[in-house]
Amino acid sequence: MSTAAALRAKSVSLNGVSIHFGEGAHAVQALDAVDLQIPAGQFVSILGPSGCGKSTILNAIGGFGNLSAGQVYVGDERVHGAGPDRGIVFQQHTLLPWKTVITNVEFGLKMRGVPARERRQSAREILEQVGLGEFLHHYPHQLSGGMQQRVNLVRVLVNRPGVILMDEPFCSLDAQTRLQMQSMLLELWAALGMTVIFVTHDVDEALFLSDRVVVLSRRPARVIDEFSVELPRPRTREALTDPQFMRLKRRSLEQLLEGPRQLSAHRQAAASESRGV
Ligand code: ADP
Ligand code: MG
Repeated sequence: MSTAAALRAKSVSLNGVSIHFGEGAHAVQALDAVDLQIPAGQFVSILGPSGCGKSTILNAIGGFGNLSAGQVYVGDERVHGAGPDRGIVFQQHTLLPWKTVITNVEFGLKMRGVPARERRQSAREILEQVGLGEFLHHYPHQLSGGMQQRVNLVRVLVNRPGVILMDEPFCSLDAQTRLQMQSMLLELWAALGMTVIFVTHDVDEALFLSDRVVVLSRRPARVIDEFSVELPRPRTREALTDPQFMRLKRRSLEQLLEGPRQLSAHRQAAASESRGV
């Protein structure tokens, strides 16, 4: 990727962030005093069971929704709403079905007033880099799921966000496509250097991609573990059988399984109570 494409990565910090939804008896607490400090340019995965509050954390960083307590900072600025310094990639692509691949990728640049020639060139360059040079004028429905998600990702990256927030982006892809997407993401990250916050419930995916992994409890999400993954880069699939990988995988799985064990103990206690024991 050309050096003109350089971006400025930003740090992210969450200080005692709690979030609840609804009021009174219907209130749901999603986050419980979450503290997270992510240096600029780091690749961090957030790992946690389904429904624990992972998307809620990404939304808080993205500037959507209200905090019940605490603060979120991106770089030196406190987050009060969405901004172009943060790009978001969801599990389901958000491409416009009536626009071609290249016009989808150009769209954000157009909104920001980038002149036509320049935006076309940036879009073409990044699409070629991810192997979609032959599909510039196709429509989203003419592409495979993996290709759609590739367009979706570069559509966000073409805006050069300092931080990219990814919410289980490869979840709905088949296993092989998913591995290809992971490698492609690592290549883009190495070339661009943005901060990546990647949400997943897949331990292998988190360990393979990240510099650091943050493990959340069941809802309300608290940070229950955090560790660095010091496997060499660029990573290959050999990393998956490295002793460090295996050790961290066991550690993550134990943390993730702790939730259900607590839950069943709690259920047993409730059951004994209702039987009057
Ligand atoms: P995850 O992404 O880890 O699966 P979420 O962050 O989406 O979990 O949700 C955490 C909890 O907060 C869930 O119990 C969910 O039902 C609840 N929740 C999320 N968003 C809302 C909302 N807008 N209103 C009410 N409850 C919500
Ligand atoms: Mg989610």
